[in-house]
Amino acid sequence: MNLEPLIRAIPDYPKPGIIFRDITTLLQHPAGFRYSIDMLVQPFAGAGVNRVAGIEARGFILGGAVAHQLSVGFVAIRKKGKLPWQTISAEYQLEYGTDEMEIHIDSIEKGDQIILIDDLIATGGTACAATKLVRAAGGDVVGASFVIDLPDLGGRKKLEDMNVPVRTLIEFEGD
Ligand code: AMP
Repeated sequence: MNLEPLIRAIPDYPKPGIIFRDITTLLQHPAGFRYSIDMLVQPFAGAGVNRVAGIEARGFILGGAVAHQLSVGFVAIRKKGKLPWQTISAEYQLEYGTDEMEIHIDSIEKGDQIILIDDLIATGGTACAATKLVRAAGGDVVGASFVIDLPDLGGRKKLEDMNVPVRTLIEFEGD
């Protein structure tokens, strides 16, 4: 199935020069949504995954569906200050400055086999920080799946350099 027509490209959002890849149009498309979830899961279906970690916010929608598909639990990785219980946190690089993401301290058990889910990998800063968080909590990251890869920004390579197998469904040139 060709996902490209189901992903809306919004030029100059959120700022000039950026093409925002909007997956809300994909989520609204029943066959496209189902196909995407099946394809995100596929390489890791026999890997003994016992939890899915989704990255706020679009990673929650996709990750929830992936967890349902695998009949496993879901763990939320959130922006700083959103989770109500005790957390561990990791800093990551933005274009200007840094940001921080968190998971609940007891959301992962030692030896848990985790797949990470988000809608898109660009520079990889977000996904690498999420990997560090899962590892700090005692989990093994058996893979990371994204609908979209922006290969020119090199994030996939960075994540693979951390020994995380990466699955992506479609690539777009540029940023
Ligand atoms: P990065 O940390 O640079 O890999 O950025 C990935 C995160 O930023 C993901 O959570 C994406 O949802 C979001 N993101 C980055 N670039 C774009 C883009 N061009 N279109 C849509 N979302 C993006």
